Amino acid sequence: MVDATGGGALVVERRHPGIGLGFDVHRFGAPGPLRLGGIVIDHPVGLLGHSDADALCHAVADAVLGAAGLGDLGEHFPSSDERWRGASSLRILELVAALLPPLGLVVAGADATVVAEQPRLAPHRSAMILAIRTALSLPEGALSIKVKSSDGFGIIGGTEGVAALAVATVVRETAS
Ligand code: MG
Repeated sequence: MVDATGGGALVVERRHPGIGLGFDVHRFGAPGPLRLGGIVIDHPVGLLGHSDADALCHAVADAVLGAAGLGDLGEHFPSSDERWRGASSLRILELVAALLPPLGLVVAGADATVVAEQPRLAPHRSAMILAIRTALSLPEGALSIKVKSSDGFGIIGGTEGVAALAVATVVRETAS
């Protein structure tokens, strides 16, 4: 990058805390149950995907990767790689989290919204929080998940699938 004076190159150091944004969507079409937010939910249909198609875990993982400046899920776990066929997305989250300590980074917190017209996810919210929090080694209160319907319209307005959005914050780990 060249500075305004046209002089030497500027070194832009990444600033922390870093904030990452994740989004994912998967279509219904697999046999049930539904795997979402790291838990198994009794539902007649599941989501289609290369791994276990857990859109919420994938959105959170992408948010963490983005916050750490580590690219995206597709780079680390490509769908062309047979190792990740049917893979547990909680395991993927654990592997993502393991990338941070060698860089001196730690996930400070994350927040996610799941958009699904069905099934009703509110009763499963706390179990999903616990599963994802455990995979990321996050303390209690460091992760929140909201569940929303889309009022019957929009790209996920019917029975087509599930969408998830997430943000995560990554900070530099300090010696305690
Ligand atoms: Mg995905």
